[in-house]
Amino acid sequence: MIYDIIIVGGGPSGLSSAIYGLRANKKVLVIEKENFGGQIINTKLVENYPGFKQISGLELSELMYEQAKNLGMDEVYSEVKKIEKQTNFLITTSDKTYEGKTLIIATGAKHRMLNILHEEELLGKGISYCATCDGAFFKDLNVAVVGGGNTAIDDCLYLADICQNVYLIHRRDQFRAENQKIALLKTKPNIKLFLNETISLLKGIDQLEGITIKNTLNNKETDLKVNGLFVAIGQIPNTDLIKDLVKLDSDKSALVNDDCSTSIPGLYVAGDVRSKKIRQLTTATSDGTIASMMAIHYLENIK
Ligand code: NAP
Repeated sequence: MIYDIIIVGGGPSGLSSAIYGLRANKKVLVIEKENFGGQIINTKLVENYPGFKQISGLELSELMYEQAKNLGMDEVYSEVKKIEKQTNFLITTSDKTYEGKTLIIATGAKHRMLNILHEEELLGKGISYCATCDGAFFKDLNVAVVGGGNTAIDDCLYLADICQNVYLIHRRDQFRAENQKIALLKTKPNIKLFLNETISLLKGIDQLEGITIKNTLNNKETDLKVNGLFVAIGQIPNTDLIKDLVKLDSDKSALVNDDCSTSIPGLYVAGDVRSKKIRQLTTATSDGTIASMMAIHYLENIK
């Protein structure tokens, strides 16, 4: 079977592409390596997706998935290993090769790591990249969050209701997060801010027992006893698969046209994986829509 559109990645961007492709009566396959819904499944509450005053990320992603499934989406749970362009695109996973006339890459992004000693060994043993997934393990304990963006602030607000104290460590004294979130953060008595600080040491062998932070202005080190550390320092786009097909920017995001097209006819890149200033649910679904409409247009013109 030759698909009209193959989509790699089943997050909001990939699912939006699928919905538009299916509604245009195209044969669509989505290949997803983990869970449909992407990173949004870890967001406790979404309050900025039009049409929903408040909805959990998991519920919203389930609705998107059901919508695509009801329209006839084919799905495969597997990791794509290779992409080749012959007349069509050949997408090889661990166990099979799929053929598509067009290809939409919507592989999203993964968590950036601190890259300090013992970070990998302590992952799941006190270090986490997902407060809503792991916060409950730290009930009434002290935890730290590192980062200064919306994710870090959301994590602090979420953890403040569960943990005894939440220490926010940020390398500057200005935040990237929205002002409204920062204002709320400052009303929480058990959130303590450590600004102009970086993490210099992770303590503990089988379990995180504490961290040492270092002031960027005076190099003074401070020990904090914490059981958990939530790393919320941004994302790295998942571009490994397409690094030989598409130009990347200095952050490894795919540099593609505003309409998500690339220099390869029939290949589109959508969502957080592409180079852009604003990475939001709405911009991901917008990209998915545009990429799919472009793919549909391309399919109509190669007939
Ligand atoms: P982000 O906005 O890129 O922020 C990353 C933060 O981590 C920055 O404050 C950065 O510091 C810091 N950082 C980066 N590398 C670091 C390192 N090696 N060591 C220490 N700190 C480091 O990432 P994000 O918060 O994950 O958000 C990603 C996107 O999703 C953003 O567009 C955000 O607006 C969006 N988002 C939106 C919502 C919402 O409710 N609307 C919720 C979550 C995320 P500097 O500031 O010094 O660079």
